[in-house]
Amino acid sequence: MTLTHPDAIEAEPLKATQTAANGPAPDELLLRVEACAVCRTDLQLVEGDLKARKLPVVPGHQVAGVVERTGDRVSGWEMGERAAITWLAGTCGICKFCTSGRENLCLEARFTGWDRDGGYADYVTARADFAFHLPSGLDPADAAPLLCGGVIGYRSLKRSGIQPGGRLGLFGYGASAHLALQVARYWGCEAYVFTRSRREQERALATGATWAGGYSDSPGALLDAAITFAPVGDVVIDALRNVDRGGAVTINAIHLDRIPQFSYDMLWWERELRSVANVTREDAREFLDLAGRIPVRTDIQTFPLQNANLALKLLKQGALWGTAVLLT
Ligand SMILES: [Zn+2]
Ligand SMILES: [Zn+2]
Repeated sequence: MTLTHPDAIEAEPLKATQTAANGPAPDELLLRVEACAVCRTDLQLVEGDLKARKLPVVPGHQVAGVVERTGDRVSGWEMGERAAITWLAGTCGICKFCTSGRENLCLEARFTGWDRDGGYADYVTARADFAFHLPSGLDPADAAPLLCGGVIGYRSLKRSGIQPGGRLGLFGYGASAHLALQVARYWGCEAYVFTRSRREQERALATGATWAGGYSDSPGALLDAAITFAPVGDVVIDALRNVDRGGAVTINAIHLDRIPQFSYDMLWWERELRSVANVTREDAREFLDLAGRIPVRTDIQTFPLQNANLALKLLKQGALWGTAVLLT
């Protein structure tokens, strides 16, 4: 499903096209795609809100599939193995960020479904060193939604500094927070979930949250760390208000409308604000391993690949009841 001209999703800008599966290059894998989850970033790309870096482009960066062929210089991969690829398609490997465990900050980073063709397709190529082994027992359709919001939620957990048994606040409760909650529970943390939606509050409690309420409600305990998922700066202040001395508020959102002015007293006592940008391969490996062991549960709604426009339209309308996953 190829994007040639970005347009409103109602105009169905993704078109089914046939191209020869080329590659893999010597350092790449050719994957037969089994499942590709749909992300809000895909919608932004298709509608032109995120400027395309190449056109035509095949979107999709949460891909689970099977190795069909390996490049001549690839080691560590066998044909027929399950593999996954994520948003991070490659980094330079030599800059100060890449050589210090922070490849997520690399200025030369390339991205799946943006710089190179992604997983809204029957086949996709990917750098072998940026592909991941999928834990056995994880169905490809259930694994795909873990590969973007899930991994970023996991990085946010790490960035938050939360320790086993600590009190963690999650502000906003979508797919990413739902996965982060399951990891936090596995680590023995108490989770406090703040969301306006009654339905999401109930879902959080059913998933093991200690407490759930609205943004202005008080949970009756100070938090050791908090993560905000809502793209709203006011929520960052709500989180800060509930964090104990020495605690951090980690902002998971890529875009934030603004951070409202607030009293320095709220930040004093060594409280911190932190942002999260992309993920490293280490984050993805650790999270996939955990996801298989916990095992994490995801809510998915599947669509045939040719209905990619429909899946994106329902995402835009807020009419999905789980993460949309395209099946080939
Ligand atoms: Zn994404
Ligand atoms: Zn680099």
